[in-house]
Amino acid sequence: MVLEVLYPALGIEVIPPPPITKKTIEIGVKLAPQNACFPMKVTLGNFIEGIEKGADTIFMAGGVGPCRFGYYGQIQRIIIEDLGYDVNFVLIDFPRYGWKNFFSSLKVMIGGKWSISRVHHAVRLAWNVLRYVEDLEKISRKVRWKLESPSQLDALIEESLKEVKKINSIAQLEEIRSNTLYEISQLNILEKKEPIKIGIVGEVYIAQEFRVNFNIEKLLGNMGVLVDNSVSTVEYILNFFPFTRSREKEEAWELAKPYLKRFIGGEGIDTVGNTIRYAKQGYDGVIHLYPFTCMPEAVAKSIVTGVGRDYNIPILHLAIDEHAGEAGMITRVEAFVDVLEMRHKQDVREASHSLNE
Ligand code: SF4
Repeated sequence: MVLEVLYPALGIEVIPPPPITKKTIEIGVKLAPQNACFPMKVTLGNFIEGIEKGADTIFMAGGVGPCRFGYYGQIQRIIIEDLGYDVNFVLIDFPRYGWKNFFSSLKVMIGGKWSISRVHHAVRLAWNVLRYVEDLEKISRKVRWKLESPSQLDALIEESLKEVKKINSIAQLEEIRSNTLYEISQLNILEKKEPIKIGIVGEVYIAQEFRVNFNIEKLLGNMGVLVDNSVSTVEYILNFFPFTRSREKEEAWELAKPYLKRFIGGEGIDTVGNTIRYAKQGYDGVIHLYPFTCMPEAVAKSIVTGVGRDYNIPILHLAIDEHAGEAGMITRVEAFVDVLEMRHKQDVREASHSLNE
């Protein structure tokens, strides 16, 4: 979505891969090493589908250890070359790992159409679009649980995002934003008691990509649960630049310190810190989403189990890979929400008892 705004603003044609489907996953699973992480398999499937549609250049984020993310781009490049596809595979190294590599990736991305004002405009526009998309997700989480008709919210968001794809200025984006927010504020709200509150923690790809996590945020919201997702693409990108880490991220890392003092790759520390944050903020439960075989999240899982005991907050761990099924996942989430509702009612009863004593 963001790239669909960025590249046209740079004067580059973009061929978005088709939305992730079972077929995308099957392609990735067939071609990737069996024990590779699930996000690597899905993105490989995306790349192949994009190439089949006519893409001739692929961009993939680079990175460094300690987890396997750092070399996935290289493996994907080799697999694509071995299949005989003639594409330019560009690994984007972020500034945290050296400005020189970052600028050379940027140069390839922009090609011969380099002009500072054009790049500035395109990047600013894309960044604002990304922030708007995340804002819409946040608003959706805040209101969905109490809406009379959540499908109206989905229709508004879909329409708004369709409009965003056509913009070429921030003023147009702001107009769409204010119209959409106004329309959302006009949706019918039901009178409801205080909802169950669930926080989502985990690995960035699984926690953010609704097509692989079976749209868990929507599922919970439609069940009347108020959801918060601690994982943000904006923060993920900021973390790759020096001195731009958000206050929330700093706080989460600080909270995690008594349990985990060093970087273990991926979002491991964030998972621990944000679980503690949710417990301190009075959330009823936490859902931990991660790819099966993810090393940092496996470490975080064992720590978070202890955090759950220490802070008396229930945690549901959901590992997702190509074998995960929607029905099984829904059943587990529903059972978890039932448990939280029982605990919630018990707390309310106990609180009113002590008030009457
Ligand atoms: S964070 Fe986890 S899923 Fe992502 S590359 Fe590292 S080990 Fe794999």
